Amino acid sequence: MNSSTLARFSDKVLQILRANGIGIFSLSAADNRLYPQTISNGSSQIDIESVEPIDLEEETPLAAQAWRVLRHEQHQVSDSPVVLSGYELPPPVLMLPIVWKRDPIEEGEETMHRAVGLMMLWSKRGANHFNADDHNLADTLSAQAAALLVEEQLSEFEDIQAAFVTVPIGLILVGTDDRVIVANQAARHILDKTNLTGHSIAEVDYQEQLAKVVDDSRSGRVAQSTFVSPSGINYIANGQTANEQQIILAFSSSPINQDAEELVGQVAHELRTPLTVIQGNLQTVEALFEGPIEEEDKELISEFVTTSLIQASRMYRLIDETLNLSRIHVGKELELDIAEFDLIDAVNQVYLELDDRLVRYEVVSEMPEVLMMEGDRGKIISIMDNFLKNACKYADPGTTITVRIVDENGTVNLSVEDEGIGIPPDAIKRIGIEAGFRTEVSKGQAGGIGLGMVYTRRVIEGHGGQMLIESELGKGSLFSAILPRAQCD
Ligand code: ADP
Repeated sequence: MNSSTLARFSDKVLQILRANGIGIFSLSAADNRLYPQTISNGSSQIDIESVEPIDLEEETPLAAQAWRVLRHEQHQVSDSPVVLSGYELPPPVLMLPIVWKRDPIEEGEETMHRAVGLMMLWSKRGANHFNADDHNLADTLSAQAAALLVEEQLSEFEDIQAAFVTVPIGLILVGTDDRVIVANQAARHILDKTNLTGHSIAEVDYQEQLAKVVDDSRSGRVAQSTFVSPSGINYIANGQTANEQQIILAFSSSPINQDAEELVGQVAHELRTPLTVIQGNLQTVEALFEGPIEEEDKELISEFVTTSLIQASRMYRLIDETLNLSRIHVGKELELDIAEFDLIDAVNQVYLELDDRLVRYEVVSEMPEVLMMEGDRGKIISIMDNFLKNACKYADPGTTITVRIVDENGTVNLSVEDEGIGIPPDAIKRIGIEAGFRTEVSKGQAGGIGLGMVYTRRVIEGHGGQMLIESELGKGSLFSAILPRAQCD
């Protein structure tokens, strides 16, 4: 706070009241403390930084006196020295409230009347004390001090408000009654409302997504949810508890919007490979059918058809994954189609599907011959598919990729280890949690958009499992899915 005006004002008060010293404190309603704004002792200024705020909740004689002054709006005179952060103020010390009064601006509004600070005056006049005239004068001067304090507070508040209004992120402060206390322009724009203040969250939140974020924040859970605005744009809403159980909601644009083009590009790119194989195989089969079919042609046709079917199922899964990803982004639950299947057979299918990439690596498989488990086969294949695709993306050809499947006491551990670029320690916890997150070291590699692991983690957790990542930068990474072998009904 710029206190030069207050310092000049306090010099004036010293002259008028012929006091020796003066201190002006502003009252912070947020923490019930009196913050020193200006203090001078005769001709010498006291260094404000060295004076601690007075905590009204502390049990000190000074706090008790200050509390009485503010609570009852009464002057208090102390005949013994007052100690203020080591400075001894000589008696008598007069303390009086700084009360701000403002007439109503709008019709129906009440007069504003509140204590905004406290003024201390001390004098060496000893037995004379401050007389009745001094008290009256001090009251008038305290009204001027109020105007100065409030003006400074307001200008600070306006700065904050200006910043609040212009940030591009939507911000809403929600009160304990679940009503909006204040919202910035971006939030009003996102929610397509000209005014949000006073409205309940249920009124603004037609899909009950924000209400959940508010609830989660209050109960200390991770409060993040996707949110679709009335105009159909995806946002991520985060909740944070502020003072006294108020919640700050912040909306930021979801990466699925930002990277929509990249996502489409990546999906198109991924779909092209299997489609090219299918097309090539069908053309060959068509050519074979042009002449008489020999016995060895039959074998060839069967091989081409099998490969085409494998690639068609890969395409189907990629499309399914993209659709599921967009469902997750509009806040819908992942639907699982649970059945019993052989995990090893599923993993072998992924090997065939990704053959074009895996041939460039040394793939080591450590797994049993058969492992029956319950789950959504297609989605569990996606876990393996994403782990393996990343290993190929973030490790050099020629290095080893180790796939391990271990079944221990009803828990299946499916892991993929690579010898690639690795992940910095502080980034590990963000992978699969923050949509769009990519490590700096990986940005130089083949295009990624940071959504595959988000989907993978959701699939693993949807099955009641856990995704674990271990990694050493420059050495390699180990991604594991710990899954229950059986699903409860
Ligand atoms: P992307 O499409 O960017 O690969 P993912 O969600 O699959 O998206 O992965 C998120 C980020 O995690 C990647 O951008 C990369 O920074 C990091 N990552 C994932 N797998 C590996 C890995 N095997 N080695 C190193 N970094 C990885």
